[in-house]
Amino acid sequence: MYFKKIEMHGFKSFAEPVTIDFSSGITCIVGPNGSGKSNISDAIRWVLGEQSPKMLRGGKMEEVIFSGTSSRKSRGMAEVTLVIDNGEGTLPIDYKEVALTRRMFRSGESEYHINGNQCRLRDIRELIMDTGIGVDGYSIIGQGKISEILSNKTESRREIFEEAAGIVLYRTKKAESERKLEAANANMDRVQDIIGEIE
Ligand code: ATP
Repeated sequence: MYFKKIEMHGFKSFAEPVTIDFSSGITCIVGPNGSGKSNISDAIRWVLGEQSPKMLRGGKMEEVIFSGTSSRKSRGMAEVTLVIDNGEGTLPIDYKEVALTRRMFRSGESEYHINGNQCRLRDIRELIMDTGIGVDGYSIIGQGKISEILSNKTESRREIFEEAAGIVLYRTKKAESERKLEAANANMDRVQDIIGEIE
């Protein structure tokens, strides 16, 4: 599995549609200060479902939409598509190539797509869970991540190892089932109360 290309339109400094092709080896992005190198890694984080504007070096999520310059009008929408090679079937989906798209409008509305089909953020999260490329994964090493790994916080370290070991999906599903079970128990209690009142 590797990232084949990223397409951005209206995302941060990329006002016009831009496509960057990657290859299966190492890709280095070089450029002058402020030219948008970090905006590319922000776009990868964002399309993979990042919800924290701080992690995208902003204050509010709308700040990912191109805000205009003296010569260009601002945009009403940001869109990023990340195309992933899935030839080895690492992603649990029956496609050799997977395109993840995230779109956000100034109104605050967001859309997510997998290979052009609209989906929920949760579907994207589940698809990439335990592959290491998720926003909490170990593949995107942002500023501060190294110190987090080296920190004394055992919980932070454990999360990284859990993702690498591939158990996050099961942990998430277990927590979800426990929540549902709790809700079902609460409903059962309520039913018992009602039966008690009727009798
Ligand atoms: P450095 O080498 O200094 O780290 P860089 O190449 O990583 O720089 P970025 O931080 O990716 O550069 O890009 C910063 C540029 O992106 C700034 O010029 C900033 O004005 C622009 N930018 C960020 N968000 C937006 C936005 N929403 N609309 C327009 N421009 C934006």
